[in-house]
Amino acid sequence: MSNKLLFKDIDEPGLASIDVYKRRGGYAMAEQALAMARESIVTSLKDSGLRGRGGAGFPTGLKASFIPQGKMDKYLVCNADESEPGTFKDRELIQKNPHSLIEGMIIAAYAVGANKAFIFIRGEYVQQADILERAIEEAKAAGYLGPNVLGRGVELDMWVHRGAGAYICGEETGLLDALEGRRGNPRLKPPFPANQGLYQGPTLINNVETLTAIKYILEVGAEAYAAMGVEKSSGTKLISVSGNVKRPGNYEIEMGMTGRDIIYGLAGGIEDDREVLLWFPGGSSSPVLTKDDLDLPYDYESMAGAGTMLGSGAIIVADDSNSVVDIAVKTASFYKHESCGKCTPCREGTNWTTKMLKRIQSGDATPMDLDVIESVCSQIMGNCLCVLGDAMAMPVSSMVKKFRPEFETHIEAARAAREAALLAELS
Ligand code: NAD
Repeated sequence: MSNKLLFKDIDEPGLASIDVYKRRGGYAMAEQALAMARESIVTSLKDSGLRGRGGAGFPTGLKASFIPQGKMDKYLVCNADESEPGTFKDRELIQKNPHSLIEGMIIAAYAVGANKAFIFIRGEYVQQADILERAIEEAKAAGYLGPNVLGRGVELDMWVHRGAGAYICGEETGLLDALEGRRGNPRLKPPFPANQGLYQGPTLINNVETLTAIKYILEVGAEAYAAMGVEKSSGTKLISVSGNVKRPGNYEIEMGMTGRDIIYGLAGGIEDDREVLLWFPGGSSSPVLTKDDLDLPYDYESMAGAGTMLGSGAIIVADDSNSVVDIAVKTASFYKHESCGKCTPCREGTNWTTKMLKRIQSGDATPMDLDVIESVCSQIMGNCLCVLGDAMAMPVSSMVKKFRPEFETHIEAARAAREAALLAELS
């Protein structure tokens, strides 16, 4: 079996159209699934070991099993608000193979008994939203969506909802608020969306890659999928590699490949053959790794064991021509800007940290500020309404911890430069 599933046919010309998609076997799994017992699909998902590909890695089958059974309004929501810096895999999937997402959603909706499905897509993905809308129309015309899907008495409607450019709307409960027409603010969890989600109804909410993978799991079988990758991180993962690499882009890998094989193999190594300074293994919210960590297997457990996370699968590489202080400022500024302001640790903490880091840049800081940054970050972590605050605190504190000498050298150099400039002004 090829180790490519979701990207197997990705470069097939015209794949975004239903005709080409069907010629490649498309919608056969949806037809098959609708003839299966709903519970057996959920069991297959559990057996496959699939974990949420949006970033948290929560077991997908388990989440689906939390959706209450019985007749009531239930919803399926696809989180296509792909906004984590460095993450662009869902964009390629939607753009080139939208029907595989729709097919995965038909299967998921049937499995949990949802008859209304929404795809919440980030506002900037204008072209991809248009492609999805066209694909939904094609699927409707072909009888895969509508009041009586394939004549099997199953109702499923599907809509694309465009976001308006806020990172926080990728947080699942903020997304649900935005979908309901309110300001996208996170809700307190529990209750989790599985019990009380969209319009207070049971809601299965999953990322684009997760829902798409469902179709391929049914195609190859749960056992074969579970045999791919490594024990607790089964299957394949789409990764986005960016930064100072020779061949940035999206790749599909089997879980467990080493960071070195990804960065030096798939992505062709470092530009100008420089050294790796640091890499984010799971988007800009993941604690950074260094060149000493390149031989770690890329899977959920190994990343957690190294004090970081696989997250959304976005590997951002910075070579040694970069300043770690600049990277920290850029990272913190992003989260400060995107904080919704609803809870204090995030609103104030991201602001303070950004200000302190900027002081380091401008020569107004002392090494003691590094201790204050670490203390502020540790007080943000675990104390916010959602993970946005942690998303800033984790990478920033990891940079300060792992590169303290570089920060101290920068503080001294920037201070000396500032003093010299002041003296020059006075003389
Ligand atoms: P989480 O661990 O709180 O939840 C993961 C999922 O499991 C959610 O859907 C949640 O509802 C469900 N869940 C967890 N416990 C449950 C329970 N007891 N009962 C029912 N359902 C339960 O994580 P999260 O806040 O949803 O996601 C955080 C991750 O998102 C981060 O690790 C980050 O990597 C990622 N992220 C991704 C992007 C992107 O663009 N792909 C952007 C920002 C963040």
